[in-house]
Amino acid sequence: MSPDEKLFKDSVNEFLSKTLNPVWTNIDSEKRIPTEIINKMGEQGLFAIPVPEEYGGQGGNFLLASIAVEEVAYNDPAVATAVFTLLNNSWPFILYLYGNEETKQEILPLVGKGRGFFGIASTESIGGSDVAGERTSARKEGSLYVINGEKIYISGVRESLEQLDLGSWYLIARTGKPEDKHRGLTGFAFIGNKNGRKAENFEYSILNTIGRHAISTGLLRFNNTPIEQKYVIGEENKGFYLAMQGFSLARILVSAANIGAAKWALEQAVRFSRERRMFDDRPIASYQGVSFPIAEVAAKLESARLLVYKAAQLADKIYIKKEAGYRPHDLNYWASIAKIMAVETAFNSAEVAMKTYGAYSYTEEADLFRNMLGVLSYYVGAEGSQNIMRYIVARELIGREYVKA
Ligand SMILES: Cc1cc2nc3c(=O)[nH]c(=O)nc-3n(C[C@H](O)[C@H](O)[C@H](O)COP(=O)(O)OP(=O)(O)OC[C@H]3O[C@@H](n4cnc5c(N)ncnc54)[C@H](O)[C@@H]3O)c2cc1C
Repeated sequence: MSPDEKLFKDSVNEFLSKTLNPVWTNIDSEKRIPTEIINKMGEQGLFAIPVPEEYGGQGGNFLLASIAVEEVAYNDPAVATAVFTLLNNSWPFILYLYGNEETKQEILPLVGKGRGFFGIASTESIGGSDVAGERTSARKEGSLYVINGEKIYISGVRESLEQLDLGSWYLIARTGKPEDKHRGLTGFAFIGNKNGRKAENFEYSILNTIGRHAISTGLLRFNNTPIEQKYVIGEENKGFYLAMQGFSLARILVSAANIGAAKWALEQAVRFSRERRMFDDRPIASYQGVSFPIAEVAAKLESARLLVYKAAQLADKIYIKKEAGYRPHDLNYWASIAKIMAVETAFNSAEVAMKTYGAYSYTEEADLFRNMLGVLSYYVGAEGSQNIMRYIVARELIGREYVKA
């Protein structure tokens, strides 16, 4: 890290240690990120970090965004606020790259100020891994597209539709035939709420999730929902390719969130192992059965963080510095490797912290369960499952002609 990046990390952590950290267990219990926290995070410059300032972003890059997201997760290790932050840094960048000028000016400045959200609406009940098989349709009628279908497990639904001035998503819908698979999908900037006005012919509901409660996960239902032409992102039928770029960028920040959560759990294990004494009044840290798993998590955590930085710096070469010889496709491999390692390290760190605490970890008072259930969301899904990460790495390494999903 350069001195400026270190300064940024310290200032973000100082801000979050006062605003977010004191309330992280409350917001998890109350199942809500207070709107004023989102607004303050926006004022602090934690959203749309890689988006240029003329579009209301911070004019930063993906390394700074990764640093910010790690600090957010460290200060809310149930990772709810980190999810909101990582989505509001990765997907707005795709809108900035490929959106229509008017749409960018409508959405991005509000996202940057912490008064808006721009997430991803891809997953359908047929299975989130099969993006090319998605069925939600967008039928062209004059100057409008008419959307029909349902998206499920979508993050940020209540925040977007009930709390903020603007709630929107990169919506993937089928403009071609089902047999066109990934070549028949288009990306839209779907605005579900603007200043309290909901989109026409559109409904939503919230799911009861088992963790990271403060951010909502829900369903978006489209029943002849109209979207104007200006909200098409990029070209018609090219939405799959733009979504894949968005997923890679989001995976870097998912990985950063898991690093922050893993660091928090590791610190709990370290502290408890020093304090808890037994047998000849020795701290449990003096037993290798306790200290070695902690050391192993530390080794994995430090390695995974370097992978996150490597992937983020590669993203910066491709998208921010636009260095010759780098293509968006190059990111798939490193972003997937970072996610494999960061997510599995975070879960391992949560597990080691719980084992170190013993039975106390199984009480609500210990708060470790909030961290474990939060990082579990990234183990089972979210921005692509761990198996899909392995599939991408294998495909890039061995060859597309050998490796099939
Ligand atoms: C808390 C939470 C929030 C989320 N937020 C969003 C969001 O904001 N927007 C959004 O669009 N989606 C969101 N998702 C959905 C997420 O992206 C999906 O969970 C993910 O894409 C996997 O899809 P699925 O859960 O339907 O699993 P499936 O695709 O049904 O897969 C089930 C299992 O089969 C495995 N599998 C499937 N195909 C293969 C294969 N070819 N090879 C090997 N293994 C395979 C998978 O790895 C997985 O373990 C969220 C999920 C969670 C849990």
